[in-house]
Amino acid sequence: MTPDDSILPERIFLSPPHMGGEEMHFVQEAFASNYIAPLGPHVDAFEREFCNITGIAHAVALSSGTAAMHLALKVLGVGPGDEVVASTLTFVGSVSPIIFLGATPVFIDADHATWNMDPELLKDELNECAARGKLPTAVVPTDLYGQCADLDAIIEICEPYGIPVVVDAAESLGAKYNGRSSGKGAELAVFSFNGNKIITTSGGGMLVSDNKDLIDKARYLSQQAREPVPHYEHVEIGYNYRMSNILAAIGRGQLRVLEERVRRKREIFAYYRELLADLPGIEFMPEARYGDANRWLTVILVNEEDFGANREVIRLELEKYNIESRPVWKPMHLQPVFKRMRIRGGSISENLFDSGLCLPSGTQMTDDDINRIATKIRNMRKS
Ligand SMILES: *Cc1c(COP(=O)(O)O)cnc(C)c1O
Repeated sequence: MTPDDSILPERIFLSPPHMGGEEMHFVQEAFASNYIAPLGPHVDAFEREFCNITGIAHAVALSSGTAAMHLALKVLGVGPGDEVVASTLTFVGSVSPIIFLGATPVFIDADHATWNMDPELLKDELNECAARGKLPTAVVPTDLYGQCADLDAIIEICEPYGIPVVVDAAESLGAKYNGRSSGKGAELAVFSFNGNKIITTSGGGMLVSDNKDLIDKARYLSQQAREPVPHYEHVEIGYNYRMSNILAAIGRGQLRVLEERVRRKREIFAYYRELLADLPGIEFMPEARYGDANRWLTVILVNEEDFGANREVIRLELEKYNIESRPVWKPMHLQPVFKRMRIRGGSISENLFDSGLCLPSGTQMTDDDINRIATKIRNMRKS
């Protein structure tokens, strides 16, 4: 069971942090000015620069993407007894805030052409909700693996019912939807700077909107709902969710290399495809007509019958060579914690989970690394 290399090569991670060079300069500035915490000029600058890059008017920097989703749903008034419609094929941080607020998630399957929330299924669900006389308080599509959900179609379905759309854009910073930034056009959008995202602050998030009132409210709630008076006065319960000045300094450095990172992520995807697309039983995540994905992770589908091995066999084989790969997100409707929740459709995301494998996509990988990984996969095909 030992690999042929007698010493394991350095681990290749799925999507590790990749500093651009200017982060340290901004962090040193934060130290020099003693703005170590909590807030400070880098937080304001990071928010402003984030708005410039995305073309979304208002932003509040927070401690995580999950915190950003929590506040997004909170400022939209989600509360006990409400329902919130969400993508089933996503990461749990997208939907756990629904539970924090005492509401119930309702899951929608993916569209096979985009792997994102299927607008047709959403329409069916909302029609039924309307007939039953209980509409969801919000709809939360995820931009999966850096590919935007079909936002205009989703908004068009939600608008007649007056239901706001919150995009979980945690994975899609730098991606484009019909020429505009991911998240632009939704009532609110949530981004994450967790360690493996396309850019990182080691941990953090951003909540954005073109609606100033919503972001002002979220900012207030993120700082313990402190009233604007000299002493500590509270008429509402808030949270401690603000981003620190040090982390914002890292984020400012990272924003400066975002475009470069997207370019490299797309190159990595294209190179894997060049090396593997001819193999029977291997397919790549499609790119939707309406957008440019940031290709945060390169994802393949493995058909066991045609290829000769399944995605788990490939994953374990790569692991022997200290190469990290990971199954596609396990759909939320299959998670034990959500087993009593409603799901519309389900088989598309179940199949993607069964056969999907995320390949190492770190922007510091060399073409040689990619070649080595692809060769290991090629060698596993049935002869
Ligand atoms: C990473 C991620 C989140 C959560 O972000 P954190 O910053 O880790 O809290 C939410 N949704 C999706 C789809 C993600 O990939």
